[in-house]
Amino acid sequence: MDIEKVFTSSSNKNLIKQAANLLSKANYAVAFTGAGISTPSGIPDFRSPQSGLWNHSDPFKVASIWAFRQSPKDFFDWIRPLAINAESAKPNSAHLCLAQLENLGIIKAVITQNIDGLHHKAGSRNVLELHGSAQTATCPSCGKKHNRDYFHRIITQSEEFPRCSDCKSIIKPDVVLFGESLPQDIWNKAYQECLLADLILIVGSSLEVSPANSLPEIALMNGARLLINNLGQTNLDENANVLLRMDVEQGVGKLGEYFA
Ligand code: NAD
Ligand code: ZN
Repeated sequence: MDIEKVFTSSSNKNLIKQAANLLSKANYAVAFTGAGISTPSGIPDFRSPQSGLWNHSDPFKVASIWAFRQSPKDFFDWIRPLAINAESAKPNSAHLCLAQLENLGIIKAVITQNIDGLHHKAGSRNVLELHGSAQTATCPSCGKKHNRDYFHRIITQSEEFPRCSDCKSIIKPDVVLFGESLPQDIWNKAYQECLLADLILIVGSSLEVSPANSLPEIALMNGARLLINNLGQTNLDENANVLLRMDVEQGVGKLGEYFA
């Protein structure tokens, strides 16, 4: 190993120790996660320089409510691989560590922008999915809810659009698309958690998506301390008490060792 790597790994270790110290002093820590926590599980994020999904497609053309209504083929071509990926993906050490910290009573809630269900799979219980979940779907015409098995069978095994078993309309996965508002009840709960938080832990988010990105700011305005684990820069970096500019598995994923 060269000198630079030795230096980086020892200074990273020191930073992780500082992060663990901050967490151990918190009375009410809340995690706020984004697509970056799931990239080590094989689900691409939107904005990473090489692999991000938005390098290949225009969000408004594929991931908007207008795309779903007016060009469902573009919409399903975009969401199908994401849904297939999410179905088979496994939580990584960062998801597992957040669940462990919740079990220990340190983390009180996980607010996530992700739609992949990996926090639930990892065992986190108080998960607030701001942008819904790609696991289930609802008929926009008659409101019938379609469960995970039904939706996944159709979306993963054929190129056809998934249709409502009652009225035959094209059904929409329960995710919040561009042009749609966030579910009010989940938003209210997330807002409350941020008011209660004395530490906010941001993991794998560019903090570019609004209004979700205003939640950590609410916690900060209320005096919460800030821990960030993200590879790319965010507009809150300069407010961070500890900034882990490293892969989530090398950062948050290692925190459990300090609480074992
Ligand atoms: P984003 O793509 O805007 O940002 C991801 C951030 O994570 C980037 O800053 C990147 O540098 C960082 N990152 C990527 N891999 C990392 C790693 N291994 N370790 C540390 N940092 C890493 O994602 P966002 O902020 O969540 O906002 C975009 C929207 O993406 C959200 O609304 C979400 O619904 C949606 N989305 C979700 C999924 C998913 O459910 N897994 C996947 C793609 C997009
Ligand atoms: Zn219907």
